[in-house]
Amino acid sequence: MENTSAYSLTRDDWNELLRQENQSPHALSYLLDGLYRDRAVWGRHLSNHLLKTLAERFDLTLPLISQVLESPDGTVKFQVRFADGLEVETVLIPFHKRYTVCLSTQVGCLMNCSFCYTGTQGFKRNLSAQEIVGQYLLAMNWLKGHKKPSIVFMGQGEPLHNADEVLRATRIFNDPQLLDLGVRQMTLSTVGYLPGFEALARFPQINLALSLHSPFDEERSRLIPVNQKFPLRAVFERLEDLEILRRKILTVEYLMIDGFNLSLAHVDALTELLRDRRAVVNLIPFNPFPGSDWKRPAPEKILEFRNMLVAKKLRVTLRATKGDDILAACGQLKINKLARNYESGT
Ligand code: SAH
Repeated sequence: MENTSAYSLTRDDWNELLRQENQSPHALSYLLDGLYRDRAVWGRHLSNHLLKTLAERFDLTLPLISQVLESPDGTVKFQVRFADGLEVETVLIPFHKRYTVCLSTQVGCLMNCSFCYTGTQGFKRNLSAQEIVGQYLLAMNWLKGHKKPSIVFMGQGEPLHNADEVLRATRIFNDPQLLDLGVRQMTLSTVGYLPGFEALARFPQINLALSLHSPFDEERSRLIPVNQKFPLRAVFERLEDLEILRRKILTVEYLMIDGFNLSLAHVDALTELLRDRRAVVNLIPFNPFPGSDWKRPAPEKILEFRNMLVAKKLRVTLRATKGDDILAACGQLKINKLARNYESGT
């Protein structure tokens, strides 16, 4: 039987283990300190019995970094390999004096969005909580002593299509005795995959982002096929009920595609859709990838669209593209030979 990963356990799970093993509850803080900070703590403070249990029943290893690509703009892309040999990408993005780590939640993705490179590789499997937490710990080790990075669940995969494991990972991140990341330091981005909203109601109150990309259902369905099943009205209705959004601002991600979704009609419909909602529109210029059909708008177009939204009194931010030279930007995460050739310029 394979051992359970120590990085998949929440604090409640560890408490339960201590109880089963007749260990003092005081061992908990040493156990967690050793696991997440300094392993030497274990030798000094845990009983031999507990050390033996940890060694025999738990897998204490992290996933492997199989490749690292660094962009001159400071973005670092890790190719992370799991025990079964499958790989995902994890991206560290510098932002002022802090880093954000973009975590993958699945190997590949089933959503098949027409503008996304990840979708073209198909879906392999969900990641487990330990594989999600593992990506974070690898990035943290890489940063050595730098301030803890904040998290966006915006790598490969649709997090709400793997909601239970993402929820477990989020609890591990959020727990002050485990990774101690505040809810405001975590953002989950979704296409609006409604079956995952039930789990979302049980999440700590992290930030939420919706990949909108068009205020029109027909057009949005061309970009995000699951919109046919879960159209905008249904998604926004469910968002209303979410406790996670109480007193919070919804981020609305809007992919900017040349000649497609940047007209005045789009501005008007978007304004109408977001009227009376606490939302900020995050504009993302389309990042091209080998073989993509869509085009990135010219910089003037990007600014023009932004200004039209601002004139409507919407709150707008423009995402600076980072890491596109190493295919680490949004929608460019895919592992295959083509990507490798592209990256090395051959
Ligand atoms: N599946 C979730 C999580 C991934 S987030 C979601 O879609 O929200 C990745 C973000 O990058 C999404 O907003 C996605 O729409 C955007 N994206 C995907 N492909 C892109 C591309 N080629 N250029 C720019 N942004 C892209």
